[in-house]
Amino acid sequence: MTKRTLQIDDRLYGYLTSVSLREPAILAELRAATAKLPLADMQISPEQGQFMALLLKLIGAERCLEIGTFTGYSALVCALALPDRGRLIALDVSQEWTDVARRFWRAAGVDQKIDLRLGPAVDSLRALIDGGEGETFDFIFIDADKTGYRTYFELGLDLLRPGGLMAFDNVLWGGRVADPEANDEDTEAIRALNTHLHAYAGIDLSLVPIADGLTLVRKPG
Ligand code: CA
Repeated sequence: MTKRTLQIDDRLYGYLTSVSLREPAILAELRAATAKLPLADMQISPEQGQFMALLLKLIGAERCLEIGTFTGYSALVCALALPDRGRLIALDVSQEWTDVARRFWRAAGVDQKIDLRLGPAVDSLRALIDGGEGETFDFIFIDADKTGYRTYFELGLDLLRPGGLMAFDNVLWGGRVADPEANDEDTEAIRALNTHLHAYAGIDLSLVPIADGLTLVRKPG
């Protein structure tokens, strides 16, 4: 027995998924299609997707925002978890990756719930704020360029409704955040974000050691 988070080896991971994972077939197909592509590691894990779907249902989310869509797995998770009237705005810079995403969103019959906007995320986020959509989002998922996370946090706080939830992916960064030898730009950016969030007054937070680390932040209100 341990009070610390267990090390999850392949055998235990296999058990965990065998007794808990309920991945819809369309998500499994998207995962298989993405696995053939370079950068396939950018996709979130299926148990993380299921956890996020549960969170969305717990908070009754109807308006979601995603920064970093890649081939659309997390967006599809969100769209499937949202009610019919729910909407997700998905931000990315890649036409190529999001073409894959659109194909699977259509196949799943949820493409009408997803509003994909291509371009630098900071521009799209500022446009939402300028367009009067501040404090209207229930959930914001941040999984894009790591050096942008701090800015996405600040803009995301403006867009999140009081009591809304923000989630940051890859906050353990393969363990490099705790490696004193790792000083590359991405690692430093994630370290700085983690320290900033830890000290940030007013928010509730938890760094959940699922997959590559997922920090949950609740906006006060
Ligand atoms: Ca990620």
